[in-house]
Amino acid sequence: MTDFNAQLAVELAALRKADLLRELRRVESPAGTRACLGGRELLNFSSNDYLGLANHPALKEAAVCAAKKFGAGAGASRLVCGSLAVHHELEEALAAFKGAEAALTFSTGHAAALGAITALLDRGDLLILDKLVHACIVDAAKLSGAKLRVFRHNDLNDLEAKLKWAAKQRSAVSGQRPARTLIITESVFSMDGDLAPLRDLVELKERFGAWLMVDEAHATGLFGKRRSGLVEEFGLTGRVEIQMATLGKAVGAAGGAISGSRNLIDLLVNRARSFIFSTAPVPAAAAAASAGLKVIESSEGEARRERLWLLVEQLKRVLIEASFPPPAVRAPIIPVAMGAEARAMRFAESLRKAGVFVPAIRYPTVARGAARLRFTVSAEHTAEDLAALAKALGGIANG
Ligand SMILES: *Cc1c(COP(=O)(O)O)cnc(C)c1O
Repeated sequence: MTDFNAQLAVELAALRKADLLRELRRVESPAGTRACLGGRELLNFSSNDYLGLANHPALKEAAVCAAKKFGAGAGASRLVCGSLAVHHELEEALAAFKGAEAALTFSTGHAAALGAITALLDRGDLLILDKLVHACIVDAAKLSGAKLRVFRHNDLNDLEAKLKWAAKQRSAVSGQRPARTLIITESVFSMDGDLAPLRDLVELKERFGAWLMVDEAHATGLFGKRRSGLVEEFGLTGRVEIQMATLGKAVGAAGGAISGSRNLIDLLVNRARSFIFSTAPVPAAAAAASAGLKVIESSEGEARRERLWLLVEQLKRVLIEASFPPPAVRAPIIPVAMGAEARAMRFAESLRKAGVFVPAIRYPTVARGAARLRFTVSAEHTAEDLAALAKALGGIANG
């Protein structure tokens, strides 16, 4: 045991020295625009609860009712005896919301990516990822055993080059079924807040006979007439083979989801190991997610989204005026480039002292030397909150 702990201590010390050590901060308050940390109340610009639903009365009520009716736990995996009515109701609502034939939910978005990608691809198949996709997609890619290529972020010329490579590989293999080529991108990128050029991407993949999976973790609830995501906003619903969503961000609950054709969902039920070999999500989570979708689809959901976009513009103005210029994003994720990890940590610390909580995002979430402050807004923020942020930023010049 002494050697065990000594070795880990060396590794932890190295992380600290590189300004890459991560520590949990204990929060004593519910999700919201205020976070109670270490006995202090901070203004929170760090959450992915974009529409302010995580602490919404309708979601909490739904969670409580489901716990009373179905219990605290689901008791087993969905394929054993855990496939409760609340899970089916959520999946029916999700399929309708996403404009898909069917949907399947997982305990997390991470599990959804792992399950779906490894169910669809094997050794001999070809997988092409945008450089900036989320870690769970990278993990799934490795686990699948598929041959992997990465294209430069949002660069369609580079994607085309990778598709040509895949076409060559594909003609060379002779398996039991034709080799598959799957492209995966996010629609709104989680750490950059920029959007994928989905229309052109769909045209390109169709030209090459490839399949497309779009991770809408940060777009679900925010884009499109029905607010189901960027795939809907761009009118591509029937042309994207695999749509992925998370239920823990704008939807306000927890979980991950895949939607698409009936055959896709039936196959996942049979092949997605993170679904099959895992206890079903607790009834409260499924019911809260259903309630979250209901709010999003209602006029209240539209009002919250409108308010969110208004706040996004106001936040950008605050950052520009404080000489922390943000990129031209159209998302509630506004990254301010810091470069060195130590610099990002220093600014985040100064902001905390000034009463504002903003995370310093560092390697391995983003590339080394590309650290940033990641500001996010929620529909629950007020003009006063932004004024307080402006004041805090004013006190710590961006030198
Ligand atoms: C958060 C996130 C996930 C993982 O979802 P969880 O439900 O938090 O596990 C997947 N993809 C992207 C882009 C994300 O931001």
